[in-house]
Amino acid sequence: MTSIPTTQHQQSSRGNEQQDVVADSFMNIVGAWTKAGIASCIHIKIPSCKVELLLDCGICEPQTFSAQFVFISHGHMDHAGACISHARAKALSSAPSTYYIPSAIKDAFLMAKQGFEAMDGHEIPMKIVEVNPNDEITLSASLKVRVFATEHRVPSQGFAFFQTKRGTLLPEYQGIPGPELGKLKAKGVEILTPAIEKLELVYTGDTTFEGLLNSPFHDIIFQAPILITELTYLNGERTNAGKYKHIHIEDIREHEDNFHNHQVIFVHISQKYSISQAIELLNSQLSREFLSKVKVSLHSFGANQVLTDPLDNRWVPRKRMPGWGWSNAGHQQSSYRNEHVVHPNARNVNHSYYNSHQFDQVPPEPRSGGSWRGGHTVRENDCSGGRGRRGRGNNNRK
Ligand SMILES: [Zn+2]
Ligand SMILES: [Zn+2]
Repeated sequence: MTSIPTTQHQQSSRGNEQQDVVADSFMNIVGAWTKAGIASCIHIKIPSCKVELLLDCGICEPQTFSAQFVFISHGHMDHAGACISHARAKALSSAPSTYYIPSAIKDAFLMAKQGFEAMDGHEIPMKIVEVNPNDEITLSASLKVRVFATEHRVPSQGFAFFQTKRGTLLPEYQGIPGPELGKLKAKGVEILTPAIEKLELVYTGDTTFEGLLNSPFHDIIFQAPILITELTYLNGERTNAGKYKHIHIEDIREHEDNFHNHQVIFVHISQKYSISQAIELLNSQLSREFLSKVKVSLHSFGANQVLTDPLDNRWVPRKRMPGWGWSNAGHQQSSYRNEHVVHPNARNVNHSYYNSHQFDQVPPEPRSGGSWRGGHTVRENDCSGGRGRRGRGNNNRK
């Protein structure tokens, strides 16, 4: 039976700050820095087997140096571009990580490494393992990974993570002393129940939705307790999504019933959407029932949440706030710059802030003890850089 992941607000050991995580008993997402064409890196900790891993490495954040395993979905720079920086930084203080890369990029990856080493004047220690779809990787006694093909403009693959649990002693052998059991085992007698393999998490990397629907791993992808998948386009024609082989929100809307996951985490949102725009587009096109199991990586690159709850009222323009006459009847193309975001805690703030069409600016966080759903989350190392820049032109090609 799969455990149901829940959103938890964990108390930081370094003070009163909290960190937003999606967690179950096995895999915890502790960091997500993702924007299409800019960078993607998701940091996961598995406390029970003392494993930390990264899903793609398009940005090198200091807190990821403790990750021993790095899984690269494809060779685009926003997913693989920071591997060598990561290895170089790790070399200062700890053993090298293992980087699982698609076989198709191995030669280019090694050439890039050699180029950086020539510039740096030092060898950069890395363990590089090439993997292909359908490969199985054993990371520890309790953790396996299976690789599956995805569909993108370059060779690409996703990863499915399984917890493996050793079998328990069969009833007929219970109470028998250990040395006797050892003798039986040496004779080839099976004294344990079969090992249990439990699907925990799937990460797709960049892909088309058809690539997931038609995958031999379909059931694994859409039944994983936690599914982390790209969602690059939140509005507009689907032409670009098809051209650049990404997922469009209409793919999700049309197939909501296909997702049997407990938690769906959307990453790789285009930088052309502000936080409020993204939340509004999610709310206006996806059902509230579906959104109740969705988290989205929006506040990356210096902002203050790992994952955002799309039903959190803080980010929803008031006139479209769910429960206040919201309609999910199709895509409502809006003129964002003519709408006003009203912060739920706005009575003590300068109202002109919210009426000034600054949708790229993040409203202030609610005060500690705020009463609305989602609570208050503040990450350490908070800074304001990199937020609020609206891209011009097409920046979704990676
Ligand atoms: Zn990408
Ligand atoms: Zn890509």
